[in-house]
Amino acid sequence: MASSGFRKKSRANVRARRSRWKAKAPTLTACRNPGCGAPTPPHTACPACGTYRGRQVIRPS
Ligand SMILES: [Zn+2]
Repeated sequence: MASSGFRKKSRANVRARRSRWKAKAPTLTACRNPGCGAPTPPHTACPACGTYRGRQVIRPS
């Protein structure tokens, strides 16, 4: 393809890209806090108990 920065995207092409864009399933890991175990997104403080990797990082609501 030439190096023109403008090229019309076909609708199928856009849809294929968008389907890939958010294709990853929302992975949830069990909270590390013993006694909690709430499903928590990885690398995120637990929304239930507010701990991350065994440390209290946010105040649980
Ligand atoms: Zn927790």
